[in-house]
Amino acid sequence: MSGGDRKHYARELHKAEVSFAHLLEDAATAHAAADAARAKAYALDCLAWNTGLFIGEVDQQSPTIKAAIAGGFPLLEVRCDHCKHTEFVDLSLVVQPRERQVSLMRNYLYCSPCQRTLGKKRRPDLIGLRPVGDPQPAAPSRRPKKAS
Ligand SMILES: [Zn+2]
Repeated sequence: MSGGDRKHYARELHKAEVSFAHLLEDAATAHAAADAARAKAYALDCLAWNTGLFIGEVDQQSPTIKAAIAGGFPLLEVRCDHCKHTEFVDLSLVVQPRERQVSLMRNYLYCSPCQRTLGKKRRPDLIGLRPVGDPQPAAPSRRPKKAS
C-alpha cells in the first residue's frame, strides 16, 4: 500500500467506526420507540378486554400474559361469584407460559375462602386487568351469569 492509500484507508476506517457508533445509537433509539409503541398497544388491548368483560362480550380474544405485563396491567382481578371474595393475581409471578391468554387463567384459579369453608373448588370470574399501584376493584359489577 502506498502512503496515499494508507491515509485513505485510515480515513475510511475512521468514517466506518463513526457510522457504526451512530447506527448502534439509532437502532437503540428505534427499538426504545418501538417498545414504547408496543407497550401502548398492549395497554389498549388490556383496556379493551376489560371493557369487553364488563359488557359481557364473550367471544373476544384476551391479551396474553406477556402483553398484560408489558402493557402495564399485570394484575388480574378475579371475584368469586359465590362468596364475593375479590383477589388480585399478579401475572408476573404466575408460573404459566407468557404466550398464554389471560382468559385461560380461570382454569387454574379457585377461590380459597370457598375451598376453606365449603371444601369446594369454585372458579372465580375474571373481572379485568389492573395496573400496578391501582388495585381498585371495578366499581360496577358484572352482568349476572346464568346459574350453572
Ligand atoms: Zn368463594
